[in-house]
Amino acid sequence: MKTDVLVLGGGLAGLSTAYHLKRLSPKTTWLIAEKRRTPGGLSGSVAQDGFVFDHTGHLLHLHDPYGKRLILDLLGDNVHVLSRNSWIHSHGVDTRYPFQANTCGLPPKVVEDCVAGFMKTVHRPKAAVPGLSFKEWCVRTFGDGISRHFMIPYNEKLWKTPLERMTTEWQGRFVPKPLPEEVLYGGLFDQKKFFGYNATFRYPLRGGIQVLPDALAARVGNVRYGCEVRSVDLAAQTAVVDGVGEVRWERLVNTMPLKHFLGICSPLPEPVRRARERLKFISVYNLNLGIARAKISDRHWIYFPEKRFPFYRAGFSSNFSPHVAPKGATSMYIEVSRRPEERVDLDRLERQVLDGLRACGILRRGDRLLSKVWLPIPCAYVIYDFERTPAVNAAMAHLATRGVESIGRYGGWKYSFMEETILDGKRCAERLLGRAARAERAAHDRELTPLK
Ligand SMILES: Cc1cc2nc3c(=O)[nH]c(=O)nc-3n(C[C@H](O)[C@H](O)[C@H](O)COP(=O)(O)OP(=O)(O)OC[C@H]3O[C@@H](n4cnc5c(N)ncnc54)[C@H](O)[C@@H]3O)c2cc1C
Repeated sequence: MKTDVLVLGGGLAGLSTAYHLKRLSPKTTWLIAEKRRTPGGLSGSVAQDGFVFDHTGHLLHLHDPYGKRLILDLLGDNVHVLSRNSWIHSHGVDTRYPFQANTCGLPPKVVEDCVAGFMKTVHRPKAAVPGLSFKEWCVRTFGDGISRHFMIPYNEKLWKTPLERMTTEWQGRFVPKPLPEEVLYGGLFDQKKFFGYNATFRYPLRGGIQVLPDALAARVGNVRYGCEVRSVDLAAQTAVVDGVGEVRWERLVNTMPLKHFLGICSPLPEPVRRARERLKFISVYNLNLGIARAKISDRHWIYFPEKRFPFYRAGFSSNFSPHVAPKGATSMYIEVSRRPEERVDLDRLERQVLDGLRACGILRRGDRLLSKVWLPIPCAYVIYDFERTPAVNAAMAHLATRGVESIGRYGGWKYSFMEETILDGKRCAERLLGRAARAERAAHDRELTPLK
């Protein structure tokens, strides 16, 4: 079989690439090969026992005008806006997110450590210092107390990597930086001010986040499900795909994790092989629970920096939409981070998770489980250590010489969210089609429904 563009993976990145190719150049042929039976990849959901479970929380942060218009157009009326209600549980109390701006309620000595430590940073020069590790950056930016009581333990728990080895490249949008007066106010009073990129977010009313890739897949058509890509010959420009056979391509778009993709590619020069070895990631074990008690919490999610809890975050998905759980029930997701090489005994981990949820008062002894599903995410977060960026650049430079694009959160080997992933697909389609696509693109943008 021959195609102009072969797309590996039918998650949002792959679907968006095909959608934009189709809209911008109907004559271009393309094929999406997706190993699962449904579209969406990590942005897919599982329906079970009257609950709809996502892969942990999957909330829509819409910041780009085009991305926002496209996503709202895809969702139609099936979406609503929520104001974030997220907290941190430490020292036996809940404080508002972000920790660095909200220490009121913690033991007085902790508040003093945090506020006084932050104030000591205020007169330091703010010029960016190149090459700082994430740990050094935390101490310089937030001071010793906030780093010791939250930033370091939480991030070590999530990343499973010494923070001295991590860079600051990824944190720009994701870690809010309050002003001194906000840190002081938040140490004395319950500060209700919103901080950060996700202060409000959108979520589908019905069907979980799966409705987004479903809507995109419906517009795309022609996705081959259950078709795992087994090998890619970069020199012959062919791929072997389950259920399809050998596919010859002019251009290839990869959206599977870059490290895994390079593992099925040949021939690869030695420097690219070595770059592949330097790409690191962590796995997330996501336990979803349906519990026979209404409104267990009014929160959206809670961060757990302390070691005594096995999870780094727990959220209440039935607070994103009342339609993802049966009446009178609550649905939850719990996230545990592990190194990919670690063997995980899910039964044991589940007992530890349930004990942790009882210890912090979320679950009660008599609570009845109505549903339970583990949704492990083998490649969940790319680790931004000092080796990551040179390794990614080396791999991408080589792939470009072979006519290959590698995009999306995992193909691009980065920390990004759904809207950005959809935009990655759009930009990739535009690059594949070259400059001639510009005029068509402008017309297509105008065609979409107005902002909601
Ligand atoms: C814990 C967690 C929470 C998140 N929360 C949010 C959030 O709240 N909001 C938000 O906007 N974003 C969130 N994200 C990010 C979001 O999941 C991603 O941006 C998005 O799903 C990435 O889509 P993708 O298409 O790049 O990758 P994927 O969704 O991984 O798609 C890749 C596809 O490739 C397929 N595939 C893999 N190997 C093969 C093969 N050999 N052959 C064929 N097919 C293959 C996979 O089955 C998959 O369908 C979160 C991510 C994580 C890990």
